[in-house]
Amino acid sequence: MAKNDPQQKQQRTFFVKELIAFAVLFILLGFTVFGIFQHSVMQNVDIGLENQRSQILTNQSQPSIRIDPNKGTAKITPSVGGPFRSSTIIFDKDGTIINKPMLGDHFYSLIKSIKLDKTQTDKIYDMTISSKNFTSHFRTLLVKVPESNENALYAGNYAMIVENIDADLLALKSFQKAIFITIIIFWILAISIAYYLSKSSMKPILKSWRRQRDFSANAAHELRTPLTIIRNQLEFLLTKPNDKVVDQAEKISTSLNSVNQLQTLTDRLLTLSRSDADVVQVNLQSQKLDTFFTEVIRPYKDVAASQNKNLTVNIDTPGSGAFDGGLIRQLLVILIDNGIKYTPTEGEIGIDIQRIKDNLKIKVSDNGPGIPDTDKKRIFERFYRTDKSRNSKTGGNGLGLAIASFIVDQHHGKISVRDNQPNGAIFEVSIPLKSHVKVI
Ligand code: ADP
Repeated sequence: MAKNDPQQKQQRTFFVKELIAFAVLFILLGFTVFGIFQHSVMQNVDIGLENQRSQILTNQSQPSIRIDPNKGTAKITPSVGGPFRSSTIIFDKDGTIINKPMLGDHFYSLIKSIKLDKTQTDKIYDMTISSKNFTSHFRTLLVKVPESNENALYAGNYAMIVENIDADLLALKSFQKAIFITIIIFWILAISIAYYLSKSSMKPILKSWRRQRDFSANAAHELRTPLTIIRNQLEFLLTKPNDKVVDQAEKISTSLNSVNQLQTLTDRLLTLSRSDADVVQVNLQSQKLDTFFTEVIRPYKDVAASQNKNLTVNIDTPGSGAFDGGLIRQLLVILIDNGIKYTPTEGEIGIDIQRIKDNLKIKVSDNGPGIPDTDKKRIFERFYRTDKSRNSKTGGNGLGLAIASFIVDQHHGKISVRDNQPNGAIFEVSIPLKSHVKVI
């Protein structure tokens, strides 16, 4: 295939489009999955914060301050209700942290610089606290506790519920990494599979497209030769307006030959294009075999004789059989025509038709040039000719055997060619007479 072959270009464009489409698809998938995961993680944290707030407001929360009436001292009980990674910082109205002993020295040293921002009351927001050695991330909720709260520590103050989300962020980061790697792997996999699938599904399309393209090109080429001959002959005749028909009989006969050639060619092209479109009707009809074959072959005795060639016929086909008479006639015409066409003068053409059980065996032999082994399979292809120069003389167009093969296929039979001895070719056809004949 040429480098700039439009099919290759098309395939490349397809591939690039697939590449981009899959990338967009997987990126969207990654963002969606990550977004959902992040949302659910943060939602859990927020639910924890909200729970703690309601605990504080409904007095279910520790810590509390109990006054010892005997000693007159206050005892602070640390919080035990919230999750272990959350703490509550209590600010008085002036923004001073009043529960320092509950927070522990280490945590207090970390958060002591936090300023009370009353505008953030009842809002959940993120907070990052950095010290010399590390940075911690928190999600916080600031609650204004009413004076009426039974817990003296909270009453009238601000409770800042802070939840450490370092572990969540770490998990999110690992998840992000895992998604990224998974996307890359699946992207490569998807592209490979898509590439393989598109290539294999394109194969039959490309094959039929090439076949169609070759068919049209070959058909046009085959039509050109007889058309050129006819035009030349007619142009010549125009230069002799006073001549009689008899004076230019040769020119007229040449034109007529080309017209016949055109007729055969267009008929064959039509048959093949119909076969491609699957609109050829196989009309099964019971035929009296002997009568049918004798009638088809009769005119060829004269044709062969007129060319000084010998045609021997052996028909041994008792009884009747069902097949498409028109198509089988066409098949015989193609094989016998070729036999006569490619056999030299004084040559022998043999037709042998036998019924063996429910099989029809047709054999057409000649002692012409034969068919080289390398061409034996290819001669059934459309427009294939073994020797172009020889064929240009015989006026063939390489369609006959393609049609013969199609007809045999439609009858679920087989066609093959082998060498005749000492020279020439033998075409053999085997067709089941009764069963499995496809009716379209
Ligand atoms: P064509 O119209 O050219 O004969 P066919 O499809 O009938 O087309 O045959 C294809 C080619 O097979 C021919 O061009 C010829 O080269 C070769 N061929 C067919 N029949 C014979 C034969 N009996 N002897 C030698 N060559 C043959």
